[in-house]
Amino acid sequence: MPKFFRVMSLALVEATVVMVIAGCVVLNPSTRQIQTVASPAPKYVFLFLVDGGGIPHLEITRQYNRHVHHEGLVITDKIMREGSVGLMTTHAANSLSTDSAAAATALASGCKANIGALGMCADGSVTPTVMEHAKQRGMRIGLVTNSTLYDASPAAFVCHVPNRRHYAAIIDRYLELEPDVLLGGGKDQFLPKSRPGSRRRDEADVIAAFKKKGYRNVTNKQELERSSHGKILGLFSLKEMRFEIDRDKDIEPSIYDMTRATIRHLHDDNPQGFFAFIENENVDTASHLTDIAAMIHDYREFDRAVGLAYEFYKKYPRETLILVTSDHETGGLGFTMALKDLGSVKSDNQAAGTVEDLKKIQSIAISLQKASQMLGRKPTAEAVENLMRDHFSGFTLAPEFKEAILARRPLWRTLFIDPTAHALGMMIASATQAYWQTSSHTNHPVTVAALGLGAERFSGYYDNADFGKQLIAILNGN
Ligand SMILES: [Zn+2]
Repeated sequence: MPKFFRVMSLALVEATVVMVIAGCVVLNPSTRQIQTVASPAPKYVFLFLVDGGGIPHLEITRQYNRHVHHEGLVITDKIMREGSVGLMTTHAANSLSTDSAAAATALASGCKANIGALGMCADGSVTPTVMEHAKQRGMRIGLVTNSTLYDASPAAFVCHVPNRRHYAAIIDRYLELEPDVLLGGGKDQFLPKSRPGSRRRDEADVIAAFKKKGYRNVTNKQELERSSHGKILGLFSLKEMRFEIDRDKDIEPSIYDMTRATIRHLHDDNPQGFFAFIENENVDTASHLTDIAAMIHDYREFDRAVGLAYEFYKKYPRETLILVTSDHETGGLGFTMALKDLGSVKSDNQAAGTVEDLKKIQSIAISLQKASQMLGRKPTAEAVENLMRDHFSGFTLAPEFKEAILARRPLWRTLFIDPTAHALGMMIASATQAYWQTSSHTNHPVTVAALGLGAERFSGYYDNADFGKQLIAILNGN
């Protein structure tokens, strides 16, 4: 790979921006551009991204919170109600649906990108990202995710590489730009090749390199809670962090815990303000696995994290902008009316989702990923029976789903990632009427909830590249 593409410095990006502007104006003729009305730049910016979280995920979590826990959601009840709501299209330049790399590039750089590309526009041009603008303005910046730190969504906010799998180049870029806060999983790419758990191809000790630049390195919840100022690199797992439903709550921090630490670090003795990018990846991963219980648990924790930003906004309402959005919908999820079984299509054999179904979902205490791992690659009938008895006692596994698990066979063309998880997901769907259309991304538009300085500029129906352009304009006071 040419060195030019491996890591592009901010200076180089700045140099290319002029030639790019003309090529990025008309992005999506079917949706209108957001209005651009100049306003003062916010001093504090929170961008919350719920990866894979579409409108159905938000609504099902809202209904779950309301009926099961008798609680509201910050996103719907505070951010949307007191601020503004927009709808955003998410397709990639070369596909009607998107991946996280192309979508995050649009959000961060304000241009359409091809699937797999990070911080590089589909026309081959490169523009500074919104976070690079923030850094240049002297703001502190933070990247937080419960995925790997080098995953596409956080990486697209500061990196410019043609392929999202160029992990070493992404980490090199972090080291070069020095974000004040880096919290997430993915320690495997930070360890030298000879160390246990490493997936690097070289002997570079990246953690030592970060420490040399003044970073504090933390590895668990207690260390994170004790840290309050200075640059911080938190690596809490070798790969992705665990689902909220499976998390060891004494050791691994949640997205809420990481957000609280991020605000402490970014706000401490800081007259220049900050830009925090905070992502919950697990809503996407759970949806790829058709796992509604894991999805809801993670979405609820994400909403609590947004609540911390809302509390911050209440202290600094004239200087803060909170944005909550998604890169795409995953799963084509929704409560529906379905047949109780395939014996008849008559009305007395139909059922619609009810509050009781939400309570059935509440009874599930492990992720389908964990259930699948318990059964392994060659599940036995006895192991399946034990799993049902120990973890899904309120559900009945229909013969077709049991056969699919034992044969590790996809149920249909849109369910193909983990046959065990999908069969269990369909078992839960057939008992609750909450069905998945697919185990992958869809082109459903996603919501943009905005509150604070400049929030009104995110209402309407627009494209994700327009979101990026708008955010860059706001940050520059345009
Ligand atoms: Zn995904």
